[in-house]
Amino acid sequence: RLYNQVQDLKGNIRVYCRIRPFLPGQPKGLSIVEAVDERTLSVLTPSKHGKAKKFFTFNKFFGPSASQEEVFLDTQPLIRSVLDGYNVCIFAYGQTGSGKTFTMTGPKELTQESLGVNYRALSDLFLISEQRKDSISYDVLVQMIEIYNEQVRDLLVTDEIRNHSQNGFNVPNANLVPVKSTSDVIYLMNLGLKNRAVSSTAMNDRSSRSHSCLTVHVQGRDLTSGSILRGCMHLVDLAGSERVDKSEAVGDRLKEAQYINRSLSALGDVISSLAQKQSHVPYRNSKLTQLLQDSLGGQAKTLMFVHISPEADALGETISTLKFAERVS
Ligand code: ADP
Ligand code: MG
Repeated sequence: RLYNQVQDLKGNIRVYCRIRPFLPGQPKGLSIVEAVDERTLSVLTPSKHGKAKKFFTFNKFFGPSASQEEVFLDTQPLIRSVLDGYNVCIFAYGQTGSGKTFTMTGPKELTQESLGVNYRALSDLFLISEQRKDSISYDVLVQMIEIYNEQVRDLLVTDEIRNHSQNGFNVPNANLVPVKSTSDVIYLMNLGLKNRAVSSTAMNDRSSRSHSCLTVHVQGRDLTSGSILRGCMHLVDLAGSERVDKSEAVGDRLKEAQYINRSLSALGDVISSLAQKQSHVPYRNSKLTQLLQDSLGGQAKTLMFVHISPEADALGETISTLKFAERVS
């Protein structure tokens, strides 16, 4: 496939950009962002002489009318590599409201067409493992965690378990749940999302200020040779990347913002040093990069979805998101 050829040329890091459409009921206005071709985007930015067009290039650009299915088509080859024993990280980056959760999970009211990458990835995983069942027997286990203020919380626990557990905050001890089908996964994802939502109401939409990570561990046993292969996939919905106005944020809100800034730039540092093939990769600077260390770099494959909003007043955040994309590609 073309994907693999491109991948061989470009290494193991890919960056896709997705712009969400104007939302219903919102004044449409003119988008400051325009697709040039499948890979290039132009942004109208203020300059000395009125407005100037600035161009950004990605491995792929998805316009506002791109469907969930189209987006997944370009993600699909990574799922196969997990079953071949590779480690894969898929990230959703962008300011709050730019469509990260839409890409990874889907909209609030899920339909077959609107299912996000997470659901599609898991159902593909089961489909392919079923196709291979005469030669390889696969076990699939999932974990779901949240990182908030550099603290890790297990999302796959029921209230009862959490109340009796000392270990809920330590990922190596986070619940690793065996799953047999997509419906098992949907059940767990709903539990995880519910657990996430519980903390949100208590702390006023905390979900946009924490990273959430669905990890899928795959172990395959070759039925003839008995040899074992292991792969894993991390599907990460990152905290909103927006800069918080230092003059406005105080106390907890400021602390949160600083944690997010630090961990997102630590992630950017890691990916960009991998992209530039530097010998030192600074994994230790954040919880997120520490946890994902085995799945970033080496033979592992990384896909970064950067999300942007079409509104003119998002320009500042859009530019900083696109600069992040430039840095990691
Ligand atoms: P984020 O997770 O980055 O904060 P959301 O995924 O919650 O953003 O998206 C914000 C709103 O925009 C939601 O109502 C979502 O359903 C909608 N939305 C985002 N992306 C798209 C898209 N590609 N097509 C249609 N609606 C979208
Ligand atoms: Mg979200």
